[in-house]
Amino acid sequence: MTSASDRPVGRFAPSPSGEMHLGNLLCAMLSYLSVRSQGGRFLLRIEDVDLPRCPAHRSRQCIDDLKRFGFRWDEPPLWQSERTAFYQRLLDGLTMRGLIYPCFCTRAQLQREAAPNEGDTQWIYPGTCRSLRPAEVSRLLRLRRPALRLRVPERVYSFRDLLCGEVSEELQRGCGDFVLRRSDGLFGYQLAAVADDAASGVTEVVRGRDILTATPRQLYLQELLGCPRPVYAHIPLLVDAGGRRLAKRDRDIGLSVLVRRCSPEEILGLLAAACGLLEEARPVTLEQLIPLFSWEKVRRRTEGPPERGVLRLPPIAGSGSAPQGKELP
Ligand code: GLU
Repeated sequence: MTSASDRPVGRFAPSPSGEMHLGNLLCAMLSYLSVRSQGGRFLLRIEDVDLPRCPAHRSRQCIDDLKRFGFRWDEPPLWQSERTAFYQRLLDGLTMRGLIYPCFCTRAQLQREAAPNEGDTQWIYPGTCRSLRPAEVSRLLRLRRPALRLRVPERVYSFRDLLCGEVSEELQRGCGDFVLRRSDGLFGYQLAAVADDAASGVTEVVRGRDILTATPRQLYLQELLGCPRPVYAHIPLLVDAGGRRLAKRDRDIGLSVLVRRCSPEEILGLLAAACGLLEEARPVTLEQLIPLFSWEKVRRRTEGPPERGVLRLPPIAGSGSAPQGKELP
């Protein structure tokens, strides 16, 4: 499942369940600049496996937004909703190796029994259905459709992130056996992302720091499926000029609001200044940023400890995130 080309391959993989916001745009921008500055290829993958939450008009909107900011991709976008047969084949292979088991736990039960993972909203699965007897499985199968979980080993998975440094997790203690296919039949993010990154020959994964904890699970899946390991960069959270986390309710990060106030070049200039590619925000195109890009600059501009760092946006004229900004209509 590797690419024939030895040029770096990057990708942006949005889940179009809502409109794009500045944080998504920043990930897309850094992913693009990183591979383009090395003469590499850039791909777009629409992570719409959860079709009910990711309707087609949102995906189209996301593609139009990216084009408006000057993104170009080297192959037609990949749509995860069209690839379930591929994911199923991989799942079947893992099932034949005895690595998958059905889990009948309800959400309420999981919340009661699972231990919260430190510092985030993930739950550590306590292994309730790991060793059910075949007779019990048959009985439960008549009652409800199970999720399918992957057994995780008692092993630490580590990688060196370009921005966060050394990251590691002991899978059993950090997350427990995790879901590859949900009880509604939809494939989970982990399997689909690992399979598609490998199938597209992706060598660099640039994404939000909110997904950092998923990466050790993906390393395990890569090992099981014989996929090469890409380089990772998990992008810090964006905060406003006053250090406040940007939130959709502040109406200041949704692209549909921003593009009414600023041109795409102005918005790119703000993001480029936030991550140290420009000294000060000024209108700039994506192509003009390519020669200015380096991970070292982004690293230097990140405030706080590596795994919890933030990038600070300059004030956005006329938005709620400018200290003296005008209120939006
Ligand atoms: N689909 C995820 C998101 O929109 C990103 C997944 C990835 O880049 O691996 O946050």
